[in-house]
Amino acid sequence: MARVYNFSAGPAVLPEEVLREAADEMMDYQGSGQSVMEMSHRSKVYDNIIKEAEADLRDLMNIPDNYKVLFLQGGASQFFAEVPMNLMKNKKAAYVITGQWAKKAYEEAQIYGEAVAVASSADKTFTYIPDCSNLDIPEDADYVYICENNTIYGTKFQELPNTKGHILVSDISSCFLSEPVDVTKYGVVYGGVQKNVGPAGVVIAIIREDLITDDVLPGTPTMLKWKTQADKDSLYNTPPCYNIYICGKVFKWIKKLGGLQAMKERNEKKAKILYDFLDQSKLFKGTVEKEYRSLMNVPFVTGDKEMDAKFVAEAEKAGFVNLKGHRTVGGMRASIYNAMPIEGVEKLVAFMTEFEKENA
Ligand SMILES: *Cc1c(COP(=O)(O)O)cnc(C)c1O
Repeated sequence: MARVYNFSAGPAVLPEEVLREAADEMMDYQGSGQSVMEMSHRSKVYDNIIKEAEADLRDLMNIPDNYKVLFLQGGASQFFAEVPMNLMKNKKAAYVITGQWAKKAYEEAQIYGEAVAVASSADKTFTYIPDCSNLDIPEDADYVYICENNTIYGTKFQELPNTKGHILVSDISSCFLSEPVDVTKYGVVYGGVQKNVGPAGVVIAIIREDLITDDVLPGTPTMLKWKTQADKDSLYNTPPCYNIYICGKVFKWIKKLGGLQAMKERNEKKAKILYDFLDQSKLFKGTVEKEYRSLMNVPFVTGDKEMDAKFVAEAEKAGFVNLKGHRTVGGMRASIYNAMPIEGVEKLVAFMTEFEKENA
């Protein structure tokens, strides 16, 4: 069996232990005589799986009792619409534009009401996070929206915006469970799981209870109303059963490693290896202003498109895959999520060092 080091931004690497466990349980989940893919979502066995997944997530993120945890479908992109549908009572919201995912959420919100861009880092191709300490937020804005870790550009909010009393909604798709979070600072915090948590097909949304109401925009589909999902504990209809089961295994894997503080230390250590290399390299350069660097997504360039392409091709041959940068940005990007082992980053840096020598 030849496993590669997979630096994909998503769907992304999963812990090998989790994959092995899932393989072991494929034909017969804990004496049920069935795979989790085959069982009824209304069965007792499955009920235990989803309940345990939620309990472990609550434990990991220290989620207060007045927040609901929802397992949803449609990807983060569908959630871009769910946010205004469920929260835009005054038909107005403030958006901080720090990259394509924030921009897409902002554009989606414009379908439903007035989305106001209160800050943006578009002027420097999203290589930094704008100052959000004193935003000009309309009084009647229903919420302030951010994308906390910008997967494509490799930036991360180092502190949350001052929302001046407004509800904070945050997309944490690409930094989910990468470090401790204070859930009480958010009204809604959510993410697609395919970056750092599990297989594509699940969105996890953690929503303060008072924001889950029947007072949604007219025309909101039943399925996209948070109350529908919350009232039925994410089992209003058939959920993505198998994917939730894998997420549950990832939660247990993180708990075993020591929880989110341990994850953070591990991620800082990994990111430092790569950033330290980039900072002294004469061939490769990181593209993000240092103080806003993401621990999860590390974009870099040589400044020469042909050299970039040569690097990506040779890296792939050596077993380091999916290093090509996002199609809109070019260059390279190494996504080093929770499940990327430290050796993966060490070996990548050794490979880059060698490549630099050969191409000096
Ligand atoms: C990948 C990504 C999305 C889009 O996720 P889908 O599940 O494909 O819709 C949205 N936001 C962020 C931050 C992402 O990284």
